[in-house]
Amino acid sequence: MNDSSSSAMQRLEDELALLEKAHLRREIRSIESASATSVVFHGKKLLMLASNNYLNLTVHPSVKEAAQNAISKFGSGSGGARLTTGGSVLHEELEKQFARFKKTESALLFNTGYMANTGTLSALCGPEDFIFSDALNHASIIDGCKLSRAKTIVYQHIDWRDLEEKIKNSGAKRGLIVSDAVFSMDGDLAPLLELSRLARRYGLLLMLDEAHALGVLGKTGRGIEEHFGTENLVDISVCTLSKALASEGGCVCGSKILTEFLKNKARSFIFSSSFSASVAASALEALRVLNESPTISEKLKNNVRFFCDALTQRSIPVQTKSAIVPLIIGDEEKAVRVANLLFERNIWVSAIRYPTVEKGTARIRIAINAAHSFSELKYAAEQISNVFLSENLKKQSTIETEAQ
Ligand SMILES: *Cc1c(COP(=O)(O)O)cnc(C)c1O
Repeated sequence: MNDSSSSAMQRLEDELALLEKAHLRREIRSIESASATSVVFHGKKLLMLASNNYLNLTVHPSVKEAAQNAISKFGSGSGGARLTTGGSVLHEELEKQFARFKKTESALLFNTGYMANTGTLSALCGPEDFIFSDALNHASIIDGCKLSRAKTIVYQHIDWRDLEEKIKNSGAKRGLIVSDAVFSMDGDLAPLLELSRLARRYGLLLMLDEAHALGVLGKTGRGIEEHFGTENLVDISVCTLSKALASEGGCVCGSKILTEFLKNKARSFIFSSSFSASVAASALEALRVLNESPTISEKLKNNVRFFCDALTQRSIPVQTKSAIVPLIIGDEEKAVRVANLLFERNIWVSAIRYPTVEKGTARIRIAINAAHSFSELKYAAEQISNVFLSENLKKQSTIETEAQ
């Protein structure tokens, strides 16, 4: 190493030390099993309460088999981007089924949900456009706004009155409103009807990120429109295959013109090799399972209700409209300690900290799985309650959820 590179590395080391000191340094924990209702880590079995694998389809026999069969037929890597050599009939079929499931004219796959958001926003908007973005939107939306170089105006979380003020004051003529459908770290919902009304009134497109809505919201898991009993209010619905669908990738659902445009303009679609056919196959089968077992989504809702009730009975009042239950701790160090104490009790939860959430709002983010048993959820609620009691946290743990 020469002098300048060693001083550059010294700076990185210093920054890491600062993160460490602020309890913000992150680490990877590598599991030794499938990601399901429980996982194996360092030879120990832990109850998994942090995964977005909401429907447990990661270990569904027909989903695994579909991926295996696709590997037998199509091999491993795709070998190229969709527009060159990397597109298979399975990718095409998955788009067809996605559009049908979401009741849109068309759908276009991206390699990740992150790339779906950055690619879509940067293709649709430029310096002449306005993007109105909820204050708690996912990082991939924030990055998409930056990449687009559009005039981005952040409105207060869920506050459509603030949004309308800001639209009026901006004089925006062209652009879009973008929001998480289910907010990933709070579990609350976008005010769909109001957002749609404002989008129409001011001639803006409405884009919703349904990463935590697909498979979760609505009677049959179709997402936010099914939850609110509407159709066609959302112009651009961004879904992920990486959460309830137990695979990898993102999918943008909307009109045929939208997907044709993105195919030609979205750089994250154009300049990245496609995920392999086996990834499409497992998502396709997961979508089929979701379609044909409408009760799977009901089962998830029952589990969420059971878990929230169990915590509430133990003086930790919580409720949620999604499958995400945030337990706000506040202090970063305390959140990490709570997560570690639960880890010692064989429960895997995540301590969510800055920059994922604002400083001073660190939390334990719990995600419920449809295949958790009531006894597992009861055990978790008991242990959380014990840890909260020992850490003197009960009084602080009230969560304010927006009435939806
Ligand atoms: C996870 C997530 C994404 C990114 O999806 P990946 O497929 O994991 O890249 C985008 N938006 C939201 C709200 C998410 O929670």
